[in-house]
Amino acid sequence: MTLLRAKIPALPARLEGLAALAVNLSWSWHRQARALFRRIDEPTWRLSHHNPIEVLRATPAARFEVLAKDGDFCSHYDQVMAWFDAEQISVDGWFTEQYPEIGADRPVAYFCAEFGLHSSVPIYSGGLGVLAGDHCKTASDLAVPFVGIGLFYKKGYFDQQVTPLGWQEDSDEVLNPDTTPLIPVMGSDGTPWVTILNTFGRAVHIGAWTMRVGRAPIYLLDTDLELNHPDDRSLTSKLYSGGAEMRLRQEWILGTGGVRVLRALQINPAAWHANEGHAAFMMMERVRELVGSGTAMPDAISAVRRSTIFTTHTPVPAGHDAFDVAQVAECAGPAYLEDFGDAAEQAVAFGVHPRGHPREFQMTVLAIHLAGHVNGVAQRHGVVSRQLWGDLWSDRPEAEVPIGAVTNGVHLATWMANPFMRLLDYHLGDDWGFRLDDTEIWSAVLGLDAREVWHTHVELKRALIRYLREEARRKWRDEWSEAAQVVAAGALLDPTVFTIGFARRFATYKRANLMFSDVERLRKIVTSTTRPVQVIVAGKAHPQDTPGKEILQSIYHFTRDPVFEGRVAFLEDYDMHLAHMLVQGVDIWLNVPRVPLEASGTSGMKAALNGVPQLSTIDGWWEEGYNGKNGWAIPKAGPDEDADTVDAEHLYQLLEKEIIPLWYEKDADGIPRRFVQTMKEAIRVAGSKFTARRMMQDYVQRYYAPILRGDPFVDDPPL
Ligand SMILES: *Cc1c(COP(=O)(O)O)cnc(C)c1O
Repeated sequence: MTLLRAKIPALPARLEGLAALAVNLSWSWHRQARALFRRIDEPTWRLSHHNPIEVLRATPAARFEVLAKDGDFCSHYDQVMAWFDAEQISVDGWFTEQYPEIGADRPVAYFCAEFGLHSSVPIYSGGLGVLAGDHCKTASDLAVPFVGIGLFYKKGYFDQQVTPLGWQEDSDEVLNPDTTPLIPVMGSDGTPWVTILNTFGRAVHIGAWTMRVGRAPIYLLDTDLELNHPDDRSLTSKLYSGGAEMRLRQEWILGTGGVRVLRALQINPAAWHANEGHAAFMMMERVRELVGSGTAMPDAISAVRRSTIFTTHTPVPAGHDAFDVAQVAECAGPAYLEDFGDAAEQAVAFGVHPRGHPREFQMTVLAIHLAGHVNGVAQRHGVVSRQLWGDLWSDRPEAEVPIGAVTNGVHLATWMANPFMRLLDYHLGDDWGFRLDDTEIWSAVLGLDAREVWHTHVELKRALIRYLREEARRKWRDEWSEAAQVVAAGALLDPTVFTIGFARRFATYKRANLMFSDVERLRKIVTSTTRPVQVIVAGKAHPQDTPGKEILQSIYHFTRDPVFEGRVAFLEDYDMHLAHMLVQGVDIWLNVPRVPLEASGTSGMKAALNGVPQLSTIDGWWEEGYNGKNGWAIPKAGPDEDADTVDAEHLYQLLEKEIIPLWYEKDADGIPRRFVQTMKEAIRVAGSKFTARRMMQDYVQRYYAPILRGDPFVDDPPL
């Protein structure tokens, strides 16, 4: 309670539970809880982008006194607290029903460099983090024994501003932990550190914060402690910044420090999951522990392999961290390596590809050596990963390389908009949320009334446009110097016009500029007098990605060019909040990665859950998600064709000949019936196959449960 006091002012006894509710992120995917906070102070709720702690901090005591006597508010509060308290105590759910024999005392430990849970805790950069966040929420929903490990980045990723000329400027905002749900973990005897780790010859004290995600705790490691050398205090301050050495040290803290923090807190995981190679030192540390306590090296490796899952997330080479072997040895230090005894050289060689450069230490190679269970994130990405990493198993045919696939999914209650949930409540019964494994409920979506689906969508589209006008108005007042910036931010957008959404990181392979490759053709499409089109673009380029920033600038140029009539917009600072607004409010979701570089992609799933069909190249999840009726696919370019040219041609043709005419084909009541059919099919497919619930069930059935239960393990190691 005293720790909460720093964040949240004293509340009347009648409403005391609001404090505990606000610091457990489960409010974020519980509609009634969100509504409760909104009700306290709607403007602060909106302006803080839905941060309940800021709402509680901004609300004067007198207002709480009034609310405590408001019968309607109190009964709403009681309902939410009844749900919250029951869920805190209960350990029951899908997992305990399916696996009554597995106890809850030995959890799955899930390591990831970023977690995207809510925009009020900005410690993520994009898809990887949001996926990890959705994974944790689902672990809580399904009652999987689970603990997350990550880093606390006080400066987050970075904030994006775009100059009037379209150049991305990056700035850091320092997060005040008091306005986040993070609570410091105290070490033994009240010290602010939990464990100690050597890196580059210096001892670093590691502190930790807990973030409650429903029933699942996440521990976020932090080196910003007075006890530490000034240079070490900033080690964990920013996500994906700095050079190789900084990255190496961060990953060292995440992996090695993460294991030690779990040990110090006496949490004893039975299964260990590295979400992407950044966390792979976690495996090496566990081998070291075993060897240090007398286990022979081969047995230690085998014990770690049987209990470790590694999920690889990208076929793009820049996505796989590589360091110099000597640098890794220096980071670890002699004392660490001594624990391996004679096998110290072998330990460092875990990260070296036997057919690669002998001095290159690759995190993915380390992870594949020490994880007995490896998977990609869509069926196609499984195939691509077997091609990429198959030669670690020498002359094995690709099909026999033991890398599997679990297709990503998105957390339904996080990403589906309230109005659509209400529509489903009404037609499927209030309990549909408890029948999600029943495919019937998803087929029933096809029977929804087209008019209701359409009006629900239009309501969300209006909300998006209202929101971006409000943002433009505020920034015009506070930040911007030129009226053109207001136009660029979408102030002239019209809710009755067909709207294309494109938002993602500005990595070059995602080809944000594909749509703009024939400017004159796009201008004709956009400015048609009978069937005009709008385009909304958002996304950040990594601060060191100059080509990505140049693409962003070239697009920004069109937003302010009068020939586009203010129908192309660029929205700054893409984050989860903006992602929500966009995936719920545009008419079609555009996704054009260069095949086969998108491992999965998840924003299209979020859009589909809200009846926004995807138009995409056949890559990532779309290869298995597209069924001819739930959106549109850009056919694969032939081996001798220039993919950028033919993909752009297909994109324009689909828009001109099929999609735009279909959207404008409205009946006497103004409902585009055939387009709505595609919208319903998009919801049906996403809801039945591409939710985080289905994804988590796959991970549990294939990996977590067999490990937690101690099933026999047939190892198939590389080499
Ligand atoms: C879902 C999401 C992403 C990932 O989208 P992709 O389709 O995988 O590119 C990135 N950023 C944010 C904020 C998201 O919500």
